[in-house]
Amino acid sequence: MKISGLKPFIVPIFIPHRGCPHRCIFCNQNSIIGPNQPLPTPETIRDQIYEFLAYRKSSHTYTQIAFYGGNFLGLPHSEIEAFLSEASQIVAAGDVDGIRFSTRPDTVCSSTLNLIKKYPIKTIELGVQSMEDNVLARSHRGHTAADAIQAVARLQAHSYQIGIQMMLGLPGEHKRSAETTARKIAVLKPDFVRIYPTVVLANSPLAQLYKNGIYQPVTLAEAVNMAKQALVIFTSHAIPVVRIGLQSSTEPDATNQVLAGPYHPAFGHMVYSEWYLDTIGEMLNSVDHKPLNIICKVHPANVSKVKGLKNANISAIIARTGCASVSVKADTRMRTNVIELWDSHHCLVSAKIPATAMLMKKHHQVHQ
Ligand code: SF4
Repeated sequence: MKISGLKPFIVPIFIPHRGCPHRCIFCNQNSIIGPNQPLPTPETIRDQIYEFLAYRKSSHTYTQIAFYGGNFLGLPHSEIEAFLSEASQIVAAGDVDGIRFSTRPDTVCSSTLNLIKKYPIKTIELGVQSMEDNVLARSHRGHTAADAIQAVARLQAHSYQIGIQMMLGLPGEHKRSAETTARKIAVLKPDFVRIYPTVVLANSPLAQLYKNGIYQPVTLAEAVNMAKQALVIFTSHAIPVVRIGLQSSTEPDATNQVLAGPYHPAFGHMVYSEWYLDTIGEMLNSVDHKPLNIICKVHPANVSKVKGLKNANISAIIARTGCASVSVKADTRMRTNVIELWDSHHCLVSAKIPATAMLMKKHHQVHQ
């Protein structure tokens, strides 16, 4: 069953670093979920799941139990079965609809797929991170891009809904290789994608490289630009991007845990804003006589994206065009996928935000 149109309520079970063959250079799951958290076990997840289900609203029509924060298919087979069997009973009771988990591409093989096929697993997220072997090697991933391609093909053969996680700014990565990664991931036709900027987490192997001056993270502006570039690529392939930036529910305490790197709580918003700025720039290029006072009309939902963080887009448009003012007007009658540029009386040009952006927004809400 394709479930991309539904809005799942996610019941997260964090299994930090469980099943990981080693520590990837950028990772410290403990900093994300906090130290000294008791590890879930097959025996304890039932209570945890039912406690979490109490927060479900009647508007949530679809619920999944999600095993995150580790390498699910890297767990001992007996443990995979124990977790899945416990979760499956809750599915069988009709209290949730399915199961999802994240795993490494190199754990998706015929033996693990055989093991899980009898359980109601709907969605599998692959930590692909990069499609450049050089970047993967320098990040100590221990798998190649070919492993990711093979994993996706195997999962597609079993009709799982597939999510792919990619990272930007890993060691050895630059704008060009990030674009290549996004293009290669798009070719794989995943059902959705998540984009994460690489930040230097305390007590991660990357932190040591950073302290020794061996790794320098990309700047926030570079990361936003790389993420926008990836977003445009995925959108052009009609692939929903369900998350840009760290997961809000698992966001580390930035002041303590992020030592360096392009961390910003509004990272995703900045990426959309840059995309909107590009769109408005192209619209203005198509106008012969640029007005002195530019009015951007959009649906209220898009006002903040058009303005940019701290009105950065307004300043950028004024700097580029030399106009006297740019104002953004919210118009509830407008469709959410349209931007119009006006002078004081007339609409000069209108443009559509690609339809997938709406799909992205829908998923964005779904998977928070
Ligand atoms: S990135 Fe994934 S596989 Fe690597 S250490 Fe973190 S949880 Fe484990």
